[in-house]
Amino acid sequence: MSSQLDPVTQAIRIQSEKTQHREHSTPLFITSSFTFEDAESMRAAFAGESDDNIYTRFSNPNVDEFIAKMCALEGAEAGFATSSGMAAIFGSFFALLQQGDHLICCSSVFGSTYTIVTKYLQRYGIEHTLVPANDDAAWEAAVKPNTKMVYLETPTNPQLEVLDLEWAGKFSKKHNLILNVDNCFATPLLQRPIEYGADLVVHSATKWIDGQGRVLGGIVLGRADLINEIYLFCRNTGPSLAPFNAWVLSKSLETLDVRMTRHCENALAVAKAVQGNSAVAWVKYPLLEGHPQFEIAKKQMKMGGGVFCLELKGGVEAGRKFLDALDLLTVTANLGDSRSIASHPASTTHSKLSSNEQLAVGITPGLIRISCGLEKADDLIADITQALAKSAS
Ligand SMILES: *Cc1c(COP(=O)(O)O)cnc(C)c1O
Repeated sequence: MSSQLDPVTQAIRIQSEKTQHREHSTPLFITSSFTFEDAESMRAAFAGESDDNIYTRFSNPNVDEFIAKMCALEGAEAGFATSSGMAAIFGSFFALLQQGDHLICCSSVFGSTYTIVTKYLQRYGIEHTLVPANDDAAWEAAVKPNTKMVYLETPTNPQLEVLDLEWAGKFSKKHNLILNVDNCFATPLLQRPIEYGADLVVHSATKWIDGQGRVLGGIVLGRADLINEIYLFCRNTGPSLAPFNAWVLSKSLETLDVRMTRHCENALAVAKAVQGNSAVAWVKYPLLEGHPQFEIAKKQMKMGGGVFCLELKGGVEAGRKFLDALDLLTVTANLGDSRSIASHPASTTHSKLSSNEQLAVGITPGLIRISCGLEKADDLIADITQALAKSAS
């Protein structure tokens, strides 16, 4: 595929080699292993002298097609696809860090990422410092002689803080650190961290990339030398993406551009419509004026993403009432679906934290996260508005 083509076109057109049936759409390669004509070709494959497929834990045509499309979209040299977003994040840490190394990690990262960093890396002698988003001095102060990697997520889930990628790229370069960015919320259609100096980009493909809430998947993309380390680690430890999931995700990439545009338009329209509602204390969306990092978001994001947050004046009780009053939006623990989803972190994902701990990570009692789907914005606004009225009664 010509790299002259726009990445969006490449994500639609890249395709594994056709079989003798000359199919238009890529078939499913449901096979655990691949055959060889003779002993010599098998030897060469194992020696790394050919790129023949050997075993689906290492590579598979469906998985490779998904990786090639994602490389085009992110502008990455190489990638490795995993069974979930967490497997990609876990692989990127454990393949590249070792005992005695130090990681600088933004304090507002996805919950399971936080657990890997604070519980498991720790257990294997890998140190970390958690730093608040956008506190430049704290990031500088966190650098130690053994610091090897910087990890962040932007926009963050669910607080929607935006971190300055240009700043992070310069910071990592200055201190010679690997910059690893979770780009799940923005997708490469809205923001390409590698252009700002990120060495690695990780995704939960489960979210916008699938886009219909069907499969789990993940991917890590970036510098070829680092991806090769991660590939070797994962090919031996086994968190590889299943061919069926890769097939679904590769098909999904054909529509990612049009979907993200609609998700973002809906999120902006709905966020604007509920701003000023008497039940709502505030609304937060990266490209809505009044967002604390509005200027940074404008600089690095093409659109604001499909998620916005609002704070109910009535706190935890209002949050529960709001969810109960929704007719159209789904109450479920996912985001990035064609169907809009509402969640209340204080009573669900973050309920194990004390209220002080919740506040420390930006989870306010009446925080509602809305993942805008592809429905008509007016229908979303009508449902959310009636549920807001009921949440306040
Ligand atoms: C969901 C999510 C993950 C984890 O992805 P899984 O596919 O569920 O393992 C990581 N980072 C962010 C920002 C997420 O939203």
